[in-house]
Amino acid sequence: MAQVTLSNVRKIYPNGFEAVTPTSFDIQDGEFVVLVGPSGCGKSTLLRMVAGLEDITEGQLAIGDRVVNDVDPADRDIAMVFQNYALYPHMTVRKNIGYGLKNRKTPADVIEAKVQEAAKMLNLTDYLDRKPSQLSGGQRQRVAMGRAVVRDPSLFLFDEPLSNLDAKLRHQMRIEIKALQRRLGVTSIYVTHDQVEAMTMADRIIVLNGGKIEQIGTPAEIYHSPASTFVASFMGAPPMNLIDARVEGGQVMVNGATALAPADGQGDITLGIRPEDVELSPEGNVSFRVDIVEELGAHRLLHGQLADQPFTIHVGKDTPAEPGETRVAVKPEALRLFDKDTGKAL
Ligand code: ATP
Repeated sequence: MAQVTLSNVRKIYPNGFEAVTPTSFDIQDGEFVVLVGPSGCGKSTLLRMVAGLEDITEGQLAIGDRVVNDVDPADRDIAMVFQNYALYPHMTVRKNIGYGLKNRKTPADVIEAKVQEAAKMLNLTDYLDRKPSQLSGGQRQRVAMGRAVVRDPSLFLFDEPLSNLDAKLRHQMRIEIKALQRRLGVTSIYVTHDQVEAMTMADRIIVLNGGKIEQIGTPAEIYHSPASTFVASFMGAPPMNLIDARVEGGQVMVNGATALAPADGQGDITLGIRPEDVELSPEGNVSFRVDIVEELGAHRLLHGQLADQPFTIHVGKDTPAEPGETRVAVKPEALRLFDKDTGKAL
């Protein structure tokens, strides 16, 4: 049974702006789904409609067997974790975590047991008597998680929960949240603009652009078989290289004369190649000019021109690389072809 089902859910704000076009997808029980896209693509609007914080203009939203379009947020059996933690500054960690339960008139001994259990899970046991101002950003985010966990919800909603943290802490919290979700098995929807979070945390990713779904798929599907040039350039750091090419005589050609791989059809295309799918090779049939070598420790990025177009290649730390002319070999099976006008995968 799908845990969350959106059927043609649409949002038009009172000023007439359509923030989410009619959108349909299912989220399975226990699944971790990440909504990702650039600023303004409608991901928060979509999440807020699931939470009940925003009215649904058209369409139907079900959680479990129940249509919840008109159900109050408090009665949807969800718990939400926000970017700004929204902790009560005058309450201790213990009170912050237990607050929602107290509001529901849960007996004090049950609250204490649940708070202790959540604190143990989140490494907060030593901090239960502190106030939020006496905690680090990561600890505050864990308190916000604790508050969600003690509710035993059927659905977790995360709205950019890590964007206020520094890079190292974000990395650590990414792993913690994912591990916690696995352990609890609670269906989760997680909103972020960070493609790394999407790739590393999701069972399935939904890529949004301009209020529309561009693609739904596992991280591997999205990365290796992007449905459009938008997805190809949004997911992956550095992004997929996109260059002008032509299909002619059954071959993908660059620079008018260099054949890279067999292909059907005829005409101009956009060719997508991931930076790691190209190798430096004296026998390679494509010219590459290295302009800048970006040293990243475990690997290097070579920025330059392939067939006279901007291009980046990812090589291992042991591959010698200097600025200048060289030759490369492209893995034919790694080429992705896109319609030059629509950007859709061919
Ligand atoms: P961000 O990452 O910047 O938060 P987002 O993808 O979450 O972006 P939303 O907050 O869902 O985007 O907003 C989607 C679009 O709807 C944006 O263009 C935004 O300006 C618009 N929008 C949001 N709230 C309202 C509102 N109350 N009235 C009118 N338009 C709105």
